[in-house]
Amino acid sequence: MFETLSSGFRSAINKIRFSDDEKALDKALDELKKTLLKNDVYHKATKEILQKTKEQTKLNGIGRDSFLNSLSKSLLDILEVGGVYGFTYAKKPPTTILMSGLQGSGKTTTCAKLANYLKSRNKKVLLVPCDLQRLAAVTQLKTLGEQIETEVFNSDSKDPIMVAKEAMKYGESGQFDVVIYDTAGRLAIDDSLMLELSEIKKVLQPHDTFYVADALSGQDGVRTAQAFHEKIGITGVILSKFDSDSKGGIALSIAYQIGIPLRFMGMGEKIADLDLFMPDRIVSRLMGAGDLTGLAEKTAAIINPKEAKDIHKKIKKGTFTFTDFLNQIENVKKMGSVSSLMSMIPGMGNMAKSLKNVDLDNSEEIKIIRAMVNSMTPKEREDPSLLNGSRRKRIALGSGLQVSDINRTLKQFDQASKLAKKLSQKGGVQNFLGMLSQNKIPH
Ligand code: GDP
Repeated sequence: MFETLSSGFRSAINKIRFSDDEKALDKALDELKKTLLKNDVYHKATKEILQKTKEQTKLNGIGRDSFLNSLSKSLLDILEVGGVYGFTYAKKPPTTILMSGLQGSGKTTTCAKLANYLKSRNKKVLLVPCDLQRLAAVTQLKTLGEQIETEVFNSDSKDPIMVAKEAMKYGESGQFDVVIYDTAGRLAIDDSLMLELSEIKKVLQPHDTFYVADALSGQDGVRTAQAFHEKIGITGVILSKFDSDSKGGIALSIAYQIGIPLRFMGMGEKIADLDLFMPDRIVSRLMGAGDLTGLAEKTAAIINPKEAKDIHKKIKKGTFTFTDFLNQIENVKKMGSVSSLMSMIPGMGNMAKSLKNVDLDNSEEIKIIRAMVNSMTPKEREDPSLLNGSRRKRIALGSGLQVSDINRTLKQFDQASKLAKKLSQKGGVQNFLGMLSQNKIPH
């Protein structure tokens, strides 16, 4: 993600923190240069960023804020290339998307991620497997389709162009909003791959041709994207594996060298881990200011306002139950990985790295709660105070847990709901922060 770039920017900005003369500016620019080059930003793009930042900072008077604004603006200038951002729809449905990229770049996964993104916005999507090179690709897409309850086109044909033609007919008659075609990749560019893609593209006349670029591929990846663009013409780039220890600079390099807008970024292996790529929001994240608009959009697509209100009421009254808790975990899971959510909150970017391995599916605590709740009666789920000694023993037996696990979990849940109740009251957050600063966390 952006931690290395962000922390490099912070140290550059800090060079002008206490003195605001040209010498300080030069030191800040030196630090900035090191950061950009270390993060694989193309040297010409680096030069442009440095030059613009220097000029603008001097124009507005050397100082921390002026440096910060000038840097934001020069980054935005690089990232904002002509073209459209986000997902756009064809005037007449279905919107046809051709997905291209090298083998292993994350193309098939990205097809499913995009379908899921559109589905959560109430669109009907058809996935079409045209990758007939890699036998497992069709099965992989089918499995992913099942997981997100999205139809995957079925064909007996062994010719990807035939499959595309059949799917096109089906897509038009089936009232789909969007049809996404997964195509074959290779380990490296070769002529037969390009020919196949060009032919499919000719048949489909897609609304958008996306290229999936592995964020870990560095300058090699940029060159390959360039070759795809020259041979088949792409209209958008999706940066996959941006959650990995990638040097965030690839985003700047792709925009600068290819001039094609980045449209989405893959932020993890899970289906929900796909974020919109909007240049101004990315710059905001790069500068450590988070992306609250993006977070609000994600939340709105997943959680309905009535549910959010009901939950808030329950927390306030202290009647939040285990079932509510598990439902909320499911909601959070639909929004993507915990670390990618944290990186959207201002000032929390640094925490994202330490939360990288938080896995809501496999966390021991959540597994225990799930097992425990499954062994409870509906009444017990709504009112944990019913759980006396003999009920706890029964639940332990039913769930394969120890009574001590049940006792500990119930106690923790009770403490957490008391704390949430306190926080939800007027002035609660301020009081809590006050207590934290004095090391007095309520029990
Ligand atoms: P394809 O050959 O291009 O279709 O690639 P796949 O879709 O099969 O993906 C290759 C591998 O990359 C799989 O293990 C995916 O789980 C993984 N992958 C795809 N996108 C991401 C991502 O955004 N983050 C991470 N960490 N892994 C990803």
